[in-house]
Amino acid sequence: MSRFLDKKYSSLDAYVPGEQPQGKNYIKLNTNESPYPPPPSVAESAAKAAASLQLYSDPECRELRRLLADELDVGVENIILSNGSDEVLNFAFMAFGGGGAAFADVTYGFYPVFANLHHCPSRIIPLRADFTLSPDDYINKGSLIVIANPNAPTGLVISLDEIEYIVKSNPGAVVLIDEAYIDFGGDSAIPLIKKYDNLLVVRTFSKSRSLAGARLGYAIAQSGLIEDLNKIKYSTNPYNVNSMTLAAGYAALKEKDYYARANKNIIAVRDETVKRLRDSGFEVLPSNANFIFTKYPGFDGKMLYTSLKEAGILVRHFPGPRTGDYIRVSIGREDQMDIFVNTAISIVTK
Ligand code: PMP
Repeated sequence: MSRFLDKKYSSLDAYVPGEQPQGKNYIKLNTNESPYPPPPSVAESAAKAAASLQLYSDPECRELRRLLADELDVGVENIILSNGSDEVLNFAFMAFGGGGAAFADVTYGFYPVFANLHHCPSRIIPLRADFTLSPDDYINKGSLIVIANPNAPTGLVISLDEIEYIVKSNPGAVVLIDEAYIDFGGDSAIPLIKKYDNLLVVRTFSKSRSLAGARLGYAIAQSGLIEDLNKIKYSTNPYNVNSMTLAAGYAALKEKDYYARANKNIIAVRDETVKRLRDSGFEVLPSNANFIFTKYPGFDGKMLYTSLKEAGILVRHFPGPRTGDYIRVSIGREDQMDIFVNTAISIVTK
């Protein structure tokens, strides 16, 4: 740290992203990317856009918003696009978290970082012992309530009824549902948008659309909340989504069959992986995402992570009293998961 950093940031604990190794060829199961590349039309579309990089991208992202609005059955005024969903999450904490931001103790690690960055008082709400969420714990807990559904790193979901209960019980707060993993399980809250002016749904193209490297996310809400988020966007980075990414996202939305097949495959490989691990004595939380959260009774999670890494398999370990026993494993291709399962079993039974 230099002596120039503003004091208000000196105690900030920055988010630590998952490892992105550039050299060694790992079986990479650590940051919940899709194991499948986007279809060729997506790269072609991005390359075409690259020919006009002398021009700024459309700050309103009109074409992509229109296509997305049609797909989601909402209006264009109900959508804001962002540079990865992390960016729109950041905007939301900035815009709505001043009166306190509430989120679970075991959830996406960026939420507490955004809360600290924007000086939103954090209300950390413990999940139950089995990592399920109790909706009654989320009433009157500040100006912003943030729930990942499915949750990360657990993969557990809450029902649409539970979401509606939380939204309805908090008319004075924005309820943000982070649906980064919704295409792998659970019910989307988007149909509730028309009914509630305090509901904000955040999504990403990073996982189920194989576009993590393109950085494309979005939020859906009634137009008032979207206007607020746009106020923050136009006060920070008006051209927040670059033109190659806009083109890639547009082409991706046209490839429904490809992604339906890819995601169906990921779900099938996930379910098979869970079964094989359980048959071998691992405990695995019921996952609705493209990752699993698992532990082997009596075996240290950090040690399992390290041994897998030595064997060329990269997974994620979250230190801490509630998560330290576990590893989170993204769902890769069938052949990769076969190697992972065999290696994990041999490590814990050695
Ligand atoms: N929400 C959750 C729950 C996540 O796990 C992630 C991925 N790290 C994100 C949001 C952000 O993803 P991206 O910025 O790539 O859209």
